[in-house]
Amino acid sequence: MKNFRFECLINGMWRASSDGKTTPVTNPSSKKLLANVPSLSKSDVQSAIDSAGKAFELWREIPARKRSDLLLGLANLIIAHTDTLAATITAEQGKPLAESRGEITYAANYFRWFSEEAVRINGDIIPSDSNSKRIMVIKQPIGVVAAITPWNFPLAMLARKMAAALAAGCSFIAKPAPETPLTALALAALTLEAGIPAGVVNVITGDAEMIGAALMHSPTVRKVTFTGSTEVGKILIRQSAETVKKLTLELGGNAPLVVCDDADISKAVEGAVFGKFRNAGQTCICVNRFLVHEKVAPQFTDALITRAKQLVVGDGMNSATDIGPLINNDALAKVTRLVESASREGAKVNLPPAPTPAGSTFFPPTVISNITPQMSIWKEEIFGPVCAIATFANDEEAIALANNTPHGLAAYLYSTNLNRALSLAERLDFGMVGINDTSISAAQAPFGGIKESGFGREGSKYGIDDYLVLKYLSVQS
Ligand code: NAP
Repeated sequence: MKNFRFECLINGMWRASSDGKTTPVTNPSSKKLLANVPSLSKSDVQSAIDSAGKAFELWREIPARKRSDLLLGLANLIIAHTDTLAATITAEQGKPLAESRGEITYAANYFRWFSEEAVRINGDIIPSDSNSKRIMVIKQPIGVVAAITPWNFPLAMLARKMAAALAAGCSFIAKPAPETPLTALALAALTLEAGIPAGVVNVITGDAEMIGAALMHSPTVRKVTFTGSTEVGKILIRQSAETVKKLTLELGGNAPLVVCDDADISKAVEGAVFGKFRNAGQTCICVNRFLVHEKVAPQFTDALITRAKQLVVGDGMNSATDIGPLINNDALAKVTRLVESASREGAKVNLPPAPTPAGSTFFPPTVISNITPQMSIWKEEIFGPVCAIATFANDEEAIALANNTPHGLAAYLYSTNLNRALSLAERLDFGMVGINDTSISAAQAPFGGIKESGFGREGSKYGIDDYLVLKYLSVQS
């Protein structure tokens, strides 16, 4: 990979912090230091904003076809560098190498998809009340976009935002999570290699609160797109008021997986394994609550325990590994707390977690039943490889239990009766519902939530709208 440096990319140049400060990046599996990345000063952040502001004027004038070609070139470069990128993701994030490779294909798909959308940003002509008047609607890029992303998908979360923003004609500033900045810097290097002009993409690292506030308060930044916790999302909503900034918020989830009494249990268990244990349970659309019809609950639980016992926990670089480490000690403490409190509150721990080796953050697959809506494990995002199972007696109860959360990102439903499944899915208060499917994310589908899971959509033909503004031209001849 050409030009890849452990520095920030501002105005097409690699930059250290002007005051020399750095932040360490460590491997969550081996705990080894991977790199030190800049911890930028406030003035460095301002120079990134200025750079994006200037570049926006240039990028918006580049014909859509040319922008499209550049994005397609970037998609191809990402695929060509799969080995390096996958090793970087696994090193800093911990997920198994096969999952990292999957994330790269997924991320590249967004650049390919939005390269195709870049040339279809069509306006409208609306009939007026007079023959001498034309009403025209054009779509224009909103301006400088800032993206704040989490550590669980270091490449994909950035790709979903950057691809749409650049396709729309916006310039871009990325602030990746401190745990996983190296993948973002590698992507920055690839944008240069792809020929995207200097300043159109800037990647900055450092203190989240300072950078977040600088981006939110800047009148130059016209939109902030954020993926992360609902708690931080709410801070950004408050901060956006000052400059009336447009926001896209992809926030936390609390996904239910409903298993009806007519479900194909073996398919439901396979869906559960993918929907729960992927990325060690650290995805926003991971199943948080299993809701299983009481008639099939024993069969489902036993089969899930059998499958969970087969999963190999270990270093993501090892090809046999299914579940890597949790991202850090705070994550380990949270998952441990939720399991312990559920057990104290009367839940049954069927498959207890094996002890975590001292100093590591590995958390083995765990299966708990008799969960109730009063328990913390029901209300909070577990973000770990823990299956929390509750039962229901009928469809009404299943819907009431599933919707019993302020979050509304993803939900899943298993039934062999498609009619029943569709009518239940229509009553689930979530932005995305997988029917007999837990692998729901794709570049051509609208990803996003409702309620406290946020607003705006990423991917699909709808995704580009978040980066555009409408302008109405009233033309009198
Ligand atoms: P987080 O604590 O909200 O952090 C996300 C990002 O925001 C990080 O880069 C973080 O930097 C930064 N940040 C923290 N405080 C900030 C502030 N005051 N101003 C600006 N930026 C700030 O979330 P996380 O624990 O990293 O990620 C997990 C969460 O993301 C889960 O809730 C998960 O459901 C959600 N998620 C949602 C989606 C979706 O598409 N809906 C996808 C993936 C993840 P620091 O770490 O330095 O604080």
